[in-house]
Amino acid sequence: AAPPLGSSVIPVVNKLQDIFAQLGSQSSIELPQVAVVGSQSSGKSSVLEALVGRDFLPRGNEICTRRPLVLQLVQTKKKGDGSEEEWGEFLHRPDKRFYDFSEIRSEIEAVTAREAGENKGVSDKQIRLKIFSPNVLDITLVDLPGITKVPVGDQPTDIESRIRTMIMSYIKKPSCLILAVTAANADLANSDALQVAGVADPDGYRTIGIITKVAFLLYFTYHFRAVCYIFVVKFNIYFPTQLDIMDRGTDARNLLLGKVIPLRLGYVGVVNRSQEVIMAEYGCLLLVYLQAEKDINLNRSIKDALAAEEKFFRSHPVYSTVADRCGVPQLAKKLNNILVQHIKAILPGLKSRISDALVSVAKEHSSYGEITESKAGQGALVLNIISKYYEAFASMLEGRNEELSTS
Ligand code: GDP
Ligand code: MG
Repeated sequence: AAPPLGSSVIPVVNKLQDIFAQLGSQSSIELPQVAVVGSQSSGKSSVLEALVGRDFLPRGNEICTRRPLVLQLVQTKKKGDGSEEEWGEFLHRPDKRFYDFSEIRSEIEAVTAREAGENKGVSDKQIRLKIFSPNVLDITLVDLPGITKVPVGDQPTDIESRIRTMIMSYIKKPSCLILAVTAANADLANSDALQVAGVADPDGYRTIGIITKVAFLLYFTYHFRAVCYIFVVKFNIYFPTQLDIMDRGTDARNLLLGKVIPLRLGYVGVVNRSQEVIMAEYGCLLLVYLQAEKDINLNRSIKDALAAEEKFFRSHPVYSTVADRCGVPQLAKKLNNILVQHIKAILPGLKSRISDALVSVAKEHSSYGEITESKAGQGALVLNIISKYYEAFASMLEGRNEELSTS
């Protein structure tokens, strides 16, 4: 099974947070936000779900994500008996814990409709959801509406620029990691995801490219050969487009290697779950064939989908040569590495805050006088502390100090 997002950094962060907790609340590790961007239906929500390992976001071929969803993962301790409890809580419904994740999806759909209407409208008003689980890092993920060009339903004529502005307001923050999602069957050179990410992060220090639907393309190519063979040899039917599609299949490798559009942090190819029946134009026989092959993973559980993805990449002649760039576990690993880098980068600052605190505590400590063995010395020390306490107490009474403090 795939390691959930952050699994390798969870122990490190936990240890550090424990240490900082003893030092008071001002020092802690703040992990960056992660936002997904891209065209509508490129697979953004699916990627987030796979990373979290739970099935709870509205997904589909139409516009489904119509309000920004700020998803705060909160790590909880395992219960005494070792059992794990996971639940969600919405900001707008603080009274209710959602243990059933499909109910979370219905709630998201309901509040989306409440704010943005029933007819494909989009709103920039956030939905805030917290997921409590022992298996997550304290990190924030943001699911955003996809970029669309042509207004449909209740969408205003300037829908594209509105959505772009909304996306930019999240990803322009230097602490935001950008997952730029492009479907393999779209043209990378025209990728909306890479375009907005490039504006927000021109040097590419915080953009990871994600190519979805690679199985869609390659399974098709792969089995197409066999199916075409049967068609051509047995039935004498020829498809003029077959070569074109096969070529695009081998291109996917070059996409992942960054040969088409280079990206500093590189690309990861993933296979998410699919809901649609594809390529009707190539005839029912092919569809029946594909379905018989169970390539179309209609509403599988996330766990099954991840296992299927793993099998697909491992057994595939093209993708098995770039295995380190394929699969949700690899994406999680990449994110982990970036989080570790981030922690390393902020540690010196935390360290200097801690040593400053140490210096001032040592100073205060020594101001109470030397520790001494002799009775007289101990008496002097106690007197000194009492008089300091008295001074502080007096100054507090006079209102010069808000709290009892000797500094
Ligand atoms: P979003 O609009 O970018 O959030 O995209 P969604 O995650 O809602 O996905 C849009 C549709 O594409 C859904 O029906 C998904 O099941 C499907 N989909 C997403 N990723 C993949 C993939 O890797 N392969 C296939 N075949 N379908 C996918
Ligand atoms: Mg979505």
